[in-house]
Amino acid sequence: MDRAEILVVGGGIIGLTVARELVAQGRDGIVILEKEPELGLHASGRNSGVLHAGIYYAPDTMKARSCLAGNRLMRAYCKERGLPILESGKVVVARDESELPALQELHRRATANGARVELVDEAQLAEIEPLARTAGRALFSRDTAIVDPKAVLASLRAELEASGRVRILTGRAFTGLAAARVAATTGGPVAYGRLVNAAGAHCDRVARHFGLARDYRLIPFKGIYRKLRPGASFQVNGNIYPVPDIRNPFLGVHFTRSVHGDVYVGPTAIPAFGRENYGVLSGMDREALSIAGLDAALFFSNATFRSVALTEPKKYLAAWFNRDAARLVKRFDAADFLRAQKVGIRPGAGDGLPRRGEGRVGARAEPDLARVHELDGPREAARPGALRRLTSERRPDLRVFRTAAPASRTRAARGLRGGPPWRQARGPRGAAARCARPRRRRGARPPASTPG
Ligand SMILES: Cc1cc2nc3c(=O)[nH]c(=O)nc-3n(C[C@H](O)[C@H](O)[C@H](O)COP(=O)(O)OP(=O)(O)OC[C@H]3O[C@@H](n4cnc5c(N)ncnc54)[C@H](O)[C@@H]3O)c2cc1C
Repeated sequence: MDRAEILVVGGGIIGLTVARELVAQGRDGIVILEKEPELGLHASGRNSGVLHAGIYYAPDTMKARSCLAGNRLMRAYCKERGLPILESGKVVVARDESELPALQELHRRATANGARVELVDEAQLAEIEPLARTAGRALFSRDTAIVDPKAVLASLRAELEASGRVRILTGRAFTGLAAARVAATTGGPVAYGRLVNAAGAHCDRVARHFGLARDYRLIPFKGIYRKLRPGASFQVNGNIYPVPDIRNPFLGVHFTRSVHGDVYVGPTAIPAFGRENYGVLSGMDREALSIAGLDAALFFSNATFRSVALTEPKKYLAAWFNRDAARLVKRFDAADFLRAQKVGIRPGAGDGLPRRGEGRVGARAEPDLARVHELDGPREAARPGALRRLTSERRPDLRVFRTAAPASRTRAARGLRGGPPWRQARGPRGAAARCARPRRRRGARPPASTPG
């Protein structure tokens, strides 16, 4: 039987960087299980490659703290390893004057988070991004950079394998538990001391084998891109982003120049019907029906989700997609942008099932459940309070992957705001009450959105 001191499920950026940190802490006997034949076939290899710089998140949140720190670490890593990186910064533009207060709020948050940002006027904006258009002022984030996500994964893989302490088993899926501390996998059982759940869009499924995440339902959103046609002239030096739309849990369609010089616009946030539903029908399995049911429930109960569901799918049509993009720039010729091969799924998650007697849906939707569970084993996890105990215990040797409790509960406990907009203004009567309230004035406060 295969053995691992620490078994990491998932070979995306989270799984690889957790393994790297474990190696740095002197750990040995680390095995990474990746169900696909190669790394980077899901979110970590399909994203925009933007190294965000902590400008969106409310100060004092874990995201605010980790985003900028992660930005600095990843920039240093890319330079040290000779990986391509474009330190272009990014501009956030206001599509009209109603978005200026939100821009101001982003500036306040970014400054409080320690990010290097400036509010610039239109003339200064033109020097940074000649094609960007804004209503008076724009935000310039100096620290935002662009990397090649697949090159980062390849480098991490090489480094981990060279350490002699990590084995990466591709084409090998975790399927459940064969016995206490023995994982069942498609290639046979693996006995382990500890298990790290870094399974991305499947992390709730993995967590359920340990008695966790029963309350969560995953809501996948599809991000499609368009790409500048070869030979077309359209200058983007780095990143042009909109002020995030408070009705949308993601950052909005944006222009990004890749480290290889390609210019992408996207991604969308179209509700998808599978965790890997990259095509129209491909990647849909029997879960599609239950996702559709959850979407339907959210559609009728949650104004934010309804707005996303009504606007985003139209962006399958180039005309609708281009409308969003065109509002960020002075000149946009739709014929210059073709549908790109790149498509990604961003998992949103929530405890989306109506609770008996409460009749509320999506009250604790969380845009990135892709968090890491550290578990001692099924019995441990099944014990009441185990998750809470794992979260709070002091384990300096394992600090990098301490389990986070459902962020909604942690934030609620600390009185912090964050997560997707449909959770942000939760009042005493919960999300249902919020949905019934008049909508917040658009642009008044930006959401703490998920990267992308
Ligand atoms: C369209 C899009 C654009 C984005 N843009 C940005 C951006 O510009 N900047 C940014 O910071 N973030 C961005 N993101 C988010 C970022 O890509 C993700 O947060 C990140 O990649 C998540 O990494 P992960 O390791 O958790 O998940 P993944 O990359 O999905 O890795 C999880 C891995 O686990 C494997 N796995 C799942 N189940 C099992 C199992 N049972 N057994 C074995 N293996 C399993 C999967 O095959 C997968 O390879 C974007 C995401 C998308 C989709």
